[in-house]
Amino acid sequence: STPFLSVSDLRVHFSTEDGIVKAVDGLSFDLEKGKTLGIVGESGSGKSVTNLAILGLHNRERTTLDGEILLDGQELLTASERTLEKLRGNKMSMIFQDALASLSPYHKVGVQIAETYRKHTGCSKKEARARAIEMLRRVGIPQPDTRVDDYPHQFSGGMRQRAMIAMALVCDPELLIADEPTTALDVTVQAQIMDLLKDLQQEFGTAIIFITHDLGVIADIADDVLVMYGGRCVERGTKKQVLSTPDHPYTLGLLNSMPSLDGPVDVPLSPIPGSPPSLLNPPSGCRFHPRCSFAEKVADGLCSAERPALEVAEGRGSACHLTPDQKRELFADIAGTR
Ligand code: SF4
Ligand code: MG
Repeated sequence: STPFLSVSDLRVHFSTEDGIVKAVDGLSFDLEKGKTLGIVGESGSGKSVTNLAILGLHNRERTTLDGEILLDGQELLTASERTLEKLRGNKMSMIFQDALASLSPYHKVGVQIAETYRKHTGCSKKEARARAIEMLRRVGIPQPDTRVDDYPHQFSGGMRQRAMIAMALVCDPELLIADEPTTALDVTVQAQIMDLLKDLQQEFGTAIIFITHDLGVIADIADDVLVMYGGRCVERGTKKQVLSTPDHPYTLGLLNSMPSLDGPVDVPLSPIPGSPPSLLNPPSGCRFHPRCSFAEKVADGLCSAERPALEVAEGRGSACHLTPDQKRELFADIAGTR
């Protein structure tokens, strides 16, 4: 059967004053309804750009897109702005880190949710208001029938985040893209929002792409995981595969730079040395090679000379020149100190 969302060999290139930025350089993945794909990577790894391309929200003048994005059989890369606008909010929807970027400060929260609903359903104002109240109730806003008339500034940060989720889900989208939606929130509110998303996913059967730099969040919410580095996928698999048996040095580095998920919290963390690659002049070969402590284990300078292929079997794979035997040996040493 065809997957609900299918991205094939996606390339997103921007033109800048300094040249072409290859923000996403050949990315493929599938997502089924009701499932959550976690996309993890540092800032500038291409995760947000990928999702703006899916939504059709990239800058059209400066961006070149290549590849294929099929949503429920419909090609999005070649779709008109009109078609995409119809799909956005209705079939696919998004939430961001900053609710104020989605909610207008000039209009009542309830009106904004109601208008989104009216735009896509053409229902009456009265029906739309009732729907807005219902959505606010579902996302856990207390006294939704009076709160519906508040402005965003009258909401706390956590409540604004909930209101944005209500707005994103008001038309029952089949795909929800969540880009670091909890990053700005304190831990307690963060946990509440994650639980809310999981509940709503159960209820609505929404497919979710969850973008984060935080593997702890991935451990909480994802079914499958895609690890991005320098505009490419370096590793993918189920959450369990990626988190318990990482197969790429970068993933291992990410795991080592976060507190253990179930172990003691006082183990020293080792952030990956160096900074993310320039995508104007990306490193040759494996884009991670300038930061990879295993590159010297690979013969013939292959890491800087040749791009490692992403070999995927049944959704599991990674892109690295190390042999399976080398990984078993080298990664076991590191895992032991984690
Ligand atoms: Fe490191 Fe080489 Fe593997 Fe890249 S291909 S992750 S540089 S060992
Ligand atoms: Mg981002």
